[in-house]
Amino acid sequence: MIPGHVSRRGFLEIAGIATAATAVGLVPSPRPAFAAALTKAQRDQMTPDDIIALMKKGNERFRLGQESPHDYLAQQRASASGQYPAAVILSCIDSRAPAETIMDLGIGDCFNARVAGNIANDDLIGSLEFACEVAGAKVVLVMGHTACGAIKGAIDQVKLGQLTGLLAKIRPAVEQTRYEGERSAKNYAFVDAVARTNVRLTVDEIRRRSAILAGLEAASRLKMAGAMYDLQTGVVDFLS
Ligand SMILES: [Zn+2]
Repeated sequence: MIPGHVSRRGFLEIAGIATAATAVGLVPSPRPAFAAALTKAQRDQMTPDDIIALMKKGNERFRLGQESPHDYLAQQRASASGQYPAAVILSCIDSRAPAETIMDLGIGDCFNARVAGNIANDDLIGSLEFACEVAGAKVVLVMGHTACGAIKGAIDQVKLGQLTGLLAKIRPAVEQTRYEGERSAKNYAFVDAVARTNVRLTVDEIRRRSAILAGLEAASRLKMAGAMYDLQTGVVDFLS
């Protein structure tokens, strides 16, 4: 076996957690380190910045084709009696943008709320509040992606059943995107610019509409961040 594949990478890797945890007996033995899901102690040890750094590293592994050798059955068993996810991701339903896969995360590592165009509404914000205030996640990541069909639909003002109302929630991003050039759904540069604006507006909206999450962030117990996933390159670009 390749030495680098012995320990489970992913969230257990940060700041020598796997090593430190083993030293103080937090990783159940004799179960191999890679098999375990996050424990409360391991999650609590990480800062929001640590968690974001891990997501970036996980995306790097994904891009290099060096994903962790996930033992999903072991992760399922280890997490069945309790979960201590480090983050909650709000991302699009697009089949090509599965957050856990593109950031090389395992079972129990993160909550994932998915809705077309990664918009926020009361139900989604309630889900984020559960993830952070009740279950202890420390990062809220809103992740949009390139060539997003929902963004194109919002630009074109598509009317289709219940989708109409959803796309209306993306319209402010269309209107607030400054762009010199063709402002149409056929122009992918414009579509992606709107998707970025939409991510920023969604993060702002979550802060504005959730006193709970804004309070956690003000107390430095939580970080809210935005990111864009590029379907062509596989890069998850964290917006500053
Ligand atoms: Zn999409």
